[in-house]
Amino acid sequence: MAEQRVIKSGKKSSVLQNAADLTTQLAAGLEKIGLAMKSRTWRREGRAGLGPLQRQVLTLLRSKPGQRATVSTVANELAVRLPTASEVIATLERKQLVRRRRDMSDGRIVMAHLTAKGNRSCGPSSRMPDRLAIAAEALSAPEQVVLLTSLVKVIRSLQEQGEITVARMCVSCQYFHPNQHGNADRPHHCDSLNIPLGDRSLRLDCQVYEPASSSQVNEAWTNFTGSRTA
Ligand code: SF4
Repeated sequence: MAEQRVIKSGKKSSVLQNAADLTTQLAAGLEKIGLAMKSRTWRREGRAGLGPLQRQVLTLLRSKPGQRATVSTVANELAVRLPTASEVIATLERKQLVRRRRDMSDGRIVMAHLTAKGNRSCGPSSRMPDRLAIAAEALSAPEQVVLLTSLVKVIRSLQEQGEITVARMCVSCQYFHPNQHGNADRPHHCDSLNIPLGDRSLRLDCQVYEPASSSQVNEAWTNFTGSRTA
C-alpha cells in the first residue's frame, strides 16, 4: 500500500511538474515572440525615424474618434508618465505627424490631433507585423480560434496585473453579450454593430469599443469562460 501511495504521489508530482514545465515553455514562447517583434519593430522604425513609443502614440490617436486625444489620455492608455507623453507628442509635432490644439470647449485642455502625414505613417501596411501575420496564417482555422481566445485570456490577465492599461477587446466592452444565441458558430452578440459574433470574430482592438463597468466585465467574463472551462 505504502509503495502504491509513493507511486501515486510520484505520478501526481510528475503531472504537476509537466504542467509547470508547459507553463514555463508557454511563457518562454510568448517572450520570444515579444522580443522578436520588438527587435524587428526597432530596426524598421529606426529606419523610418520613429521610436516604439512614437509609433504607439500615432496608432493610439488613429484609433480614437476624430483621431485625437488629450495628452493625459495618451499617458494613461500607454501607461507612461504625463511628461513622457508630452515630450513624445512634442517630438511628433516637430515631425508634422501630430498637431496640438487647445480644446474648443475647455481652453485648459490640450488635444493631440493626428495629421494626414501621421495617419499615413501608421497605416495598416506599416502597423501589421507582416511576419507575425504569416506565422498566424500557418495555423489551421481551429488553431487560429484557439490562439485568439487564448490571447484574449492572456491579455486580460496582463491587464489585471497592471501591465496593459487599455485593450479594446470584446470581453471588456459594454456592447458585448457572450453566449446569447443558440448558434454554436456565433453565440455572442455585439449591441453596437447589432450582429452575432463567433469566437473567431472577437476583437482585440475595436474602433467602436466602449468600456464596460467592472461588474459587467466580471459577469461577461464568467459567462464567456464558463462555456470553455466545463
Ligand atoms: S463594439 Fe467592438 S469590442 Fe464591443 S462588442 Fe462590438 S465588436 Fe466587440
